[in-house]
Amino acid sequence: MGRRARGGMDRARMTIGGCRRPARWAAVAAGIAAASCHGERPAPSPRPLPAVDALPSRHRVEPESPRIANYRIDARYDAVAHTIDGRMDLTWRNAGASPVDRLPFHLYMNAFAARDTVFMRESHGAHRDARADWSHPGWIEVDAIAIDGGDDVRDRAVFPAEDRTVLEVPLAAAIPPGGAVTVAMSFRVQLPRAVARTGFEGDFAMVGQWFPKIGVRTGPPGDERWHCEPFHANSEFFADFGVYDVSLRVPATHVVAASGVLLDAVDHGDGTRTLRYRAEDVHDFAWAIDPYFEFVEGTVTTERGPVRVRVYHRPDQRAFAQRHLRAAIGAIDAYSALFVPYPWTTMTVVDPPPDAADATGGMEYPTLVTTAGDGPAADLGLVPEFVTVHEVGHNWFQGILASNEVDEAWLDEGVNQYTNGLAIERIYGSRPAIDAFGVRLNYRQLTWLQAGWFPAPIAQPSYRYPLASWYGDATYVRTALALQTLERVLGRDRVVAALADYAREWAFRHPTGDDLFAALERHAGPDHAAFVREFVDAAFRRGGAADLRVEHFACERDTCDVVVANRGDVAVPCSISIEFADGTSSRVDDWDGRSTLDLHIDRGDAVRVDVDPDGRVALDRSGPARSKTRGADRAAARAAGARAQFWTQTVLGVVGL
Ligand SMILES: [Zn+2]
Repeated sequence: MGRRARGGMDRARMTIGGCRRPARWAAVAAGIAAASCHGERPAPSPRPLPAVDALPSRHRVEPESPRIANYRIDARYDAVAHTIDGRMDLTWRNAGASPVDRLPFHLYMNAFAARDTVFMRESHGAHRDARADWSHPGWIEVDAIAIDGGDDVRDRAVFPAEDRTVLEVPLAAAIPPGGAVTVAMSFRVQLPRAVARTGFEGDFAMVGQWFPKIGVRTGPPGDERWHCEPFHANSEFFADFGVYDVSLRVPATHVVAASGVLLDAVDHGDGTRTLRYRAEDVHDFAWAIDPYFEFVEGTVTTERGPVRVRVYHRPDQRAFAQRHLRAAIGAIDAYSALFVPYPWTTMTVVDPPPDAADATGGMEYPTLVTTAGDGPAADLGLVPEFVTVHEVGHNWFQGILASNEVDEAWLDEGVNQYTNGLAIERIYGSRPAIDAFGVRLNYRQLTWLQAGWFPAPIAQPSYRYPLASWYGDATYVRTALALQTLERVLGRDRVVAALADYAREWAFRHPTGDDLFAALERHAGPDHAAFVREFVDAAFRRGGAADLRVEHFACERDTCDVVVANRGDVAVPCSISIEFADGTSSRVDDWDGRSTLDLHIDRGDAVRVDVDPDGRVALDRSGPARSKTRGADRAAARAAGARAQFWTQTVLGVVGL
């Protein structure tokens, strides 16, 4: 999922004349928000039955993943009440070496049922810029449960956690290692008004985290344990791979964008139709529905074949849809070339209407993502493109490499954010990420400016961060800066090779942070392996950063004295440069980045000292303290710095990245 501006995560939403729009656009986006308001559009009319996908599933013959959790779901959507009646048959396989006597299921939608759920207590009722609307809560009820075709055992199921976001079904007979079970469930969902990635806004609905979803068992053979945490505010998801065969009965007036490929479309002649989708070797299934959707599409070919890319959007977002399409195609091309080829045949990008973008935009599911960034902010640079590249990139860093987003959120978010920079460079070359109000920033500068430098480790469960801003700082930004630092020390080729190796080794499995660290250490080579070990420990496990400073810079007639120090707890060898009044310069290239360094210069005309002039240490919280300027330049430099800082904060505040 994408991240919003620091300080902007808990901003309230505005409700204006019955439809709402993001608060941060309130001053500038009146035109678009008004146009998207429900009630000002023509009444929905029947839409043509969608064409069944011509592209066959690529791995119907040979499964690519272990296919542990396989779902067949029949669901009916009521577009007026925003409810879903579903029936689900799950086939689950015990891939562990110990017997299983209970099955826990996530009921994520119950996070939106009341003010006292774990999610609502932790988030204070808001997620990113969207606040829960308590006149439209969301919930899920499971009405019946049958194990292997037996009697209804719903009465035996319990809610073991603090709220109703986990339902546990005890089994009369344990499932032995290698055994399988089928679980039939009927359930009813009330979508909330859009909040935290899911729900409805006017006629539009984004349907994510909507069905009972079994937890994941991992651990040493014979000692496996379930991972099925209640739904926390600062965490995303973790699930096993499988096949999803999902039939959606929907109004004929509505267009559906869903995971996977469309296998079948049947009109019932009563104003409804059933669309049957199949998604293979994925760990989630999501869909969006809207009566005004249209789409643009294109194709990108990887070494595994063509991938059809579609962007679903409303008519007034056509210009943005073209930008999202180019970004999605470019991202699939870049990630396929850098890591492992995109394994599926479709990629669906949902561009939610602006009034639903804060709540539902910027989220990833395998083969389907939601994007955002349309509107005035799009003119500031590559803003819509960032969101799309980020979410499509997640199809690798969590879609294919299904790490645990609850325990190790940095492993997908931060690694993804780092690789987004590589993809954006491949797609857009040297085009600045932000180019507005006289400020031009590349993606790396933008990443550094987002850091909050809060004192928390990167490698820790996401629900341990006290605030969303701390979670975002560690999980997204400092992880990306740490990887940028490794890139500059080891060389980009080695870091990319390590990530590609990690991707090949762990595709369609559940890697951990230690697996990534091992790949980095392997590719660092003998000369840098010890450095990588120390860096990983300091930066990821202890949450440290460098703090590079020119602490003293003074000159007399014929001499200058300089003191350079690192007041942080991450040491990276780097250079120091000294500029003289006549335009010449000299460098010290063997500083270890750790010990305090006293430099005595045998001339008195030094005007500027820079620590790390090559920008090697991206994970450095010091900012302007890295340089010191003497003489007339000083005031001008300070003024220029203040100006850049002011505009940067302004731009970031509007962009909300
Ligand atoms: Zn993300």
